[in-house]
Amino acid sequence: MEMKELTVHLGERAYPIWIGHGLLKKIATFLEQLHIHQNQKILLITDSNIGPLYADKLMNQLRESGYVAFSYIVPAGEGSKSLEQYDQIMTFAIEKKLDRHSLILALGGGVVGDLAGFVASTFMRGIPFIQLPTTILAHDSSVGGKVAINHSLGKNLIGSFYQPLAVIYDTETLSTLPYREITSGFAEVIKHGFIWDAEFVQWLDQHRDECLALQEPFLSKALHRACEIKTIVVAQDEKEHGIRALLNYGHTFGHAFEALGGYSSLTHGEAISIGMVLAAKLSEEIYDRQDLMVPVRNLLAKYDLPVSHQNLSWSPEEVLEKMYSDKKVVAENLNLVLLREMGQAELVKNVSPDKVLNVLMKGGDSLDTESPRN
Ligand code: ADP
Ligand code: ZN
Repeated sequence: MEMKELTVHLGERAYPIWIGHGLLKKIATFLEQLHIHQNQKILLITDSNIGPLYADKLMNQLRESGYVAFSYIVPAGEGSKSLEQYDQIMTFAIEKKLDRHSLILALGGGVVGDLAGFVASTFMRGIPFIQLPTTILAHDSSVGGKVAINHSLGKNLIGSFYQPLAVIYDTETLSTLPYREITSGFAEVIKHGFIWDAEFVQWLDQHRDECLALQEPFLSKALHRACEIKTIVVAQDEKEHGIRALLNYGHTFGHAFEALGGYSSLTHGEAISIGMVLAAKLSEEIYDRQDLMVPVRNLLAKYDLPVSHQNLSWSPEEVLEKMYSDKKVVAENLNLVLLREMGQAELVKNVSPDKVLNVLMKGGDSLDTESPRN
């Protein structure tokens, strides 16, 4: 079995990320390696789409290996990142007599990872948990230790920084992902290239077909490099005081589109895809160059992602206003991550709102058909 390994360097809380095809079949071996003993109860948390596909097999393997394991299935969808679901899982865990030594397994995408991680971070003041990501997007959310649930007044408002014991990324589970989840997930993979590694951007361009077809070894290589970039950034700045902000490339624009769409018309990946094109255009204006927007846009379009906001119904002013309500906007200053060049991002403080409006107002035509000027 081909397996790639990464370490997230966080001192005492350092942990491994294992990536490979078919890893979940070996779950018991991994648990042993992580010193999880048979007397530690296990709670597997997953959702109603992933559960029927992968949970039974996993539960059987755990039980065959002598573990006492329970599973809890939440309805698929962002709605499950709620205080109500949190409360119900807590009740279940208490009734099943989980204790301070128990372990939580989070089998799923961002929703399950965030919810199960938050449960783990607070149950009896915190118990260990392992991320078992099943989406491409989760290469991002499962690394870095941000766990949270939503409040009716906003997303991810209740949460903490809590690192998992390990991330076990079985790429075999990705085969059942809907196509839109695949392209959306690659938006975040590509982002990691844009902000950090121009060669990786080229590689993603060359291997688009294999990546979107989830073909090995390309798939594991893409996820490995994207996770690696994230771990490098996170290890330098666990609590987001400095360079971790670079991970927000395209996100201030993207969050505005997601919010304006009521979190239903665009996926996170689609929203940041459009955001990354706009941020690239803004980078050209700020750094006075003309060679960023077209390659950014073309690569995202090649991965079947939306690259223009022009067919969305929001005015530039509305988008700008939403951007100001983003969590990352500190004291009314618009701080945006821009591309200094391909593969190198930079946080630019206090960007003039006029420049942002200007980029937002550029007709879709000018953004869509502009060709590189030499
Ligand atoms: P993310 O935030 O990582 O995109 P979500 O938790 O929002 O992940 O999951 C996206 C959707 O894909 C959900 O409907 C979820 O149930 C479904 N899903 C997640 N993993 C798989 C999988 N491996 N196969 C099929 N569907 C999946
Ligand atoms: Zn994101």
